[in-house]
Amino acid sequence: MIVCLGRIVQDTDADSIPDDNVSTLSESLDLQGTIESGGITGVAGKDFGGLYSVKPLALIKPSGTEDIARVVKATSQTSHLTVAARGNGHSINGQAMADGGFVIDMRSTEENHFKPLTIDGSHYIDVSGGALWEDVLRRCVSMFRLAPRSWTDYLSLTVGGTLSNAGVSGQAFRFGPQTSNVTELEVVTGKGEIMVCSATQNSELFFGALGGLGQLGIITRARVKLQPAPDMVRWLRVVYTEFEEFTRDAEFLVTQEEGESFDYVEGFVFSNSDDPINGWPSVPLDPDHEFNPAYIPQTASSVLYCLEVALHYRNSDRPSTVDTAVSRLLERLGFIQRLKFQLNVSYVEFLLRVKQVEEHAKANGNWDSPHPWLNIFISKSSIVDFDRTVFRKMLKDGVGGPMLIYPLLRSKWDSRTSVVLPEGEIFYIVALLRFVPKGPTVEKLVAQNHEIIKWCNKEGLDFKLYLPHYHSKEDWKRHFGNQWTRFVERKTSFDPMAILAPGQKFFKRTHTIKP
Ligand code: FAD
Repeated sequence: MIVCLGRIVQDTDADSIPDDNVSTLSESLDLQGTIESGGITGVAGKDFGGLYSVKPLALIKPSGTEDIARVVKATSQTSHLTVAARGNGHSINGQAMADGGFVIDMRSTEENHFKPLTIDGSHYIDVSGGALWEDVLRRCVSMFRLAPRSWTDYLSLTVGGTLSNAGVSGQAFRFGPQTSNVTELEVVTGKGEIMVCSATQNSELFFGALGGLGQLGIITRARVKLQPAPDMVRWLRVVYTEFEEFTRDAEFLVTQEEGESFDYVEGFVFSNSDDPINGWPSVPLDPDHEFNPAYIPQTASSVLYCLEVALHYRNSDRPSTVDTAVSRLLERLGFIQRLKFQLNVSYVEFLLRVKQVEEHAKANGNWDSPHPWLNIFISKSSIVDFDRTVFRKMLKDGVGGPMLIYPLLRSKWDSRTSVVLPEGEIFYIVALLRFVPKGPTVEKLVAQNHEIIKWCNKEGLDFKLYLPHYHSKEDWKRHFGNQWTRFVERKTSFDPMAILAPGQKFFKRTHTIKP
């Protein structure tokens, strides 16, 4: 098998495999799944960001964990090949790509492992690393009236893809990111070993793989914590002119006990203008709602802030009970009273809310255009400075899509995972979700992202990139800070030849056992 792999690779000089070699390779690997020639036009060479494209050697569609282990093991016996797991390819900067290497399409395993469990009275679901969160949601709610506790805003992302980063949304203030809501993983390491791991079994691999950017192993199964699914959600948006009031209220809500706050807390910045994408029209939840700018105080600046919250309830709850609970929570907040928007939607509809945005963006062609997104975690101690310079000056006209900002609590994140955070208990996620209209140069927007990061560094802000993207080991070392040594040790243990996730541009593929 290995001889055959070596010959094919030599013949093709690490380019796409000619089709007649694909079947030879498939036979030699003894796969239950299939293998396709990579090719630059194929799905494996592109991602949602649309900023990079590379030419993989081949796209593997495994039938399950054994296939994945076989591919990794065979690759480890070549001198230079690499393997990238591809979730749904929703990375921005080529993180799920393998230039001249194998891309494993995890979606082909999405049906594997759907199994509910009850352990010590708590509910869990075992799901494939290649499953989409939207399918996990639909199946868990319809079959068991249960649901995972922590989400991302958009659910056409894979379980393994978000767990390799963190997985953050408006529930994370209470339950932590998705990486804090799994108790067991099955992982194929860079040596091609299949390992089951948890906080008590192979714990270095378990914590290392969570937020590990695909560097330590390929997550083939995850055990996800579940909670009873509510039926309905009261979804609200309220508007602020002052950043200090917006952050004070958001921080107040995320630090209250369960039952004393909303079940979901997020927020966004928008431009104080009638721009249909970046301004007032981006706030109402329903086409019937009207945003009346006459209610904005004259003193307001170029940008405004919107707190977005949601409260879960059951069909059996009386509308007046929900109204009372919402009013009680809102009465302590200092928003502009007449700029309040609310809607009742089913729980599933609420969690799938970004699907509508996707459909709309697909219809107008924006979904497939480049997305030079920037995601940053910024400490509470630095967020006022960030607002003053970045939101109010550099981005005052918006970014052509949402500019999210909401607080998170460090104590809900397990410091044993590979996720890197700024200092301090309260930090903010800032997400600049740029949808680039046809025409303007993407380079300009990428340059603006760099300018923002450069400014954060120059001013000494306490921040870390989320979904980080660096080109050199030195930059990664700086990113990981005092967690670097631990990360390198884990890499040496589980992927000593640096075969996995080459698109993250961490370690150079080697034939020896030191990365
Ligand atoms: P990919 O992009 O395919 O892969 C990401 C990385 O993980 C790659 O390095 C890949 O090699 C590796 N990988 C993939 N699968 C596995 C696996 N099974 N085991 C090990 N490594 C693997 N993130 C949030 O936290 N919150 C959000 O609300 C949010 N919203 C988003 C909305 C949109 C529209 C988009 C495009 C992205 C959003 N993200 C969000 C970012 C998302 O979490 C990342 O893009 C993430 O990479 C998941 O995408 P994916 O499943 O397509 O993974």
